[in-house]
Amino acid sequence: MKPWVLGLTGGIGSGKSAVAACFAELGVLAVDADQVARFVVEPGQPALAEIADRYGSGILLADGRLDRTALRQRIFQLPEERKWLEQLLHPLIGAEVSSRLARAISPYAILESPLLIESGQFRTVDRVLVVDAPEALQLSRAMSRDKAGEAQIAAIMRTQASRDERLRHADDVLVNDGDLCSLRAQVERLHRFYLSLKGEAR
Ligand code: ADP
Repeated sequence: MKPWVLGLTGGIGSGKSAVAACFAELGVLAVDADQVARFVVEPGQPALAEIADRYGSGILLADGRLDRTALRQRIFQLPEERKWLEQLLHPLIGAEVSSRLARAISPYAILESPLLIESGQFRTVDRVLVVDAPEALQLSRAMSRDKAGEAQIAAIMRTQASRDERLRHADDVLVNDGDLCSLRAQVERLHRFYLSLKGEAR
């Protein structure tokens, strides 16, 4: 039977990847939406050829990969071009996500996406788990992980949905304000609950 899908989201540094890793240890497949978005424009994927056809080979790096900075500059302030790109990539990303999720052998699988709410992807999942942490902790964790300054992380946080908005869409909330042990214990509790739902999450 096809697994039901748990959407996993949270602001930068909230601990999404750490949570996904805990679920993975319990045998639950997690598909990373960002990773799929990068995959569909890898060399050899049809979308990259279409992008190069439209914008010329200047959009490629010397090794044949997509030059994301050049692409961003090309479509900057050109809504029609952004639309063209979205119409090309969104269906491809959606299809790749579905095919990866369908490979899960667990009763449910996870779609991890930092922009689950902002992108509307939350509509494609059966249940939403939000990882929440105080903003000061988000900042300090992301700064030390990315070796970045406070201003840089704060700027990313401003482009993401607010905590309140994210929490409004949550079916479950995991508060990640303790150590990794307490995080793991919370994931185990949620996992037992999710297994008890069977098909009812749909
Ligand atoms: P996100 O994927 O939401 O951006 P991560 O899962 O990468 O966040 O977590 C950000 C950083 O904080 C990582 O280096 C991670 O190992 C660390 N981290 C996450 N949760 C905890 C925790 N409960 N205790 C200690 N470190 C944590």
